[in-house]
Amino acid sequence: MTSVHKLVIIGSGPAGWTAAIYAARAQLEPIVYVGVPKQDPGPILPGGQLMLTTEVENYPGFPDGIDGPEMMDRFQAQAERFGAKVVGEDITGVEFSHDGPHRLHTAGGHVVMAHAVIIATGATANWIGLENELRLARSGGGVSACAVCDGALPAFRNQRLAVVGGGDTAMEEATYLTKFASVVYVIHRRDELRASRIMQERFLSRENARVLWNKVVVDVLGESKITGVRLRDTLTGAESTLDLKGLFIAIGHTPATKFLRGSGLEFDDAGFIALRSRSSQTNIPGVFAAGDVADPRYKQAVTAAGMGCQAALDAEHYLNEHGLV
Ligand code: NAP
Repeated sequence: MTSVHKLVIIGSGPAGWTAAIYAARAQLEPIVYVGVPKQDPGPILPGGQLMLTTEVENYPGFPDGIDGPEMMDRFQAQAERFGAKVVGEDITGVEFSHDGPHRLHTAGGHVVMAHAVIIATGATANWIGLENELRLARSGGGVSACAVCDGALPAFRNQRLAVVGGGDTAMEEATYLTKFASVVYVIHRRDELRASRIMQERFLSRENARVLWNKVVVDVLGESKITGVRLRDTLTGAESTLDLKGLFIAIGHTPATKFLRGSGLEFDDAGFIALRSRSSQTNIPGVFAAGDVADPRYKQAVTAAGMGCQAALDAEHYLNEHGLV
């Protein structure tokens, strides 16, 4: 008979690791399913979005900043120090039960049973959805949703590059690209950036920074490598061509919840896991969620970590209350 774990954590970003640290210290013997690296069509890595970031400057306790991947290594080491077990496999399906235990299906065809589950699978990069955009992203043809991962490639040195989007991610990526591109265009669909003032100024202060206001990309040009984009002006409808050697899409993220389809879990209108107010509890007893997968609003490393802590405490309380530990 398959043994039932007290707690399985799915996901390995700040939320998943923080939940693991708290749960391991509470002797819940958590198993953390960290997933495997994949392209869909951009990179998805165990450790989540911080693995695709350079310096994290706004996580308290690191006055000089810290690289995203190093930060996730440290979170993992801290969780493992207290006994969290790490499994490098994807959970591809779930069968949640209102009276438990829950059954989780792994990509390798195994079934894992758990009295409590914390979902901390984060979110993945959005794409515009153009056929040529996705084709060139999949084939490494100079279209990417992660400037920090791909932008430093020799093919982009001293070239004309563009970032689509007007949020903090777009500013961060565009600023990073200004270090080696000849010119970096931010293509934004409105006449006002959504990004915070400090991030805007950091980009706009670079000599090779340009913003193309009120423009959307309607096609990506080039056979095996990108040669440019077709733009449409959102006010006049006029179309134009912009020659480019690289295009970086930074238009937000979608919660990673595909594997939860048909699970009975409740989602909000935007597809994030719905939580009870001020808790990590979902609509299914013993199933908790933390981090970007359940946070349409803040989406910060530090808020995800805080939610991971809440989820571990909620799971511990649930397991105690039901005599499962
Ligand atoms: P975001 O704030 O949701 O911004 C997405 C941007 O993409 C918006 O400007 C939006 O335009 C645009 N957009 C969305 N769909 C589009 C489409 N189909 N075509 C063209 N443009 C489209 O996402 P984000 O920049 O990834 O940031 C997410 C969260 O992470 C935010 O809370 C942000 O503050 C945080 N963050 C913080 C830092 C930092 O502080 N270091 C760095 C990165 C991210 P509209 O403005 O017109 O809606």
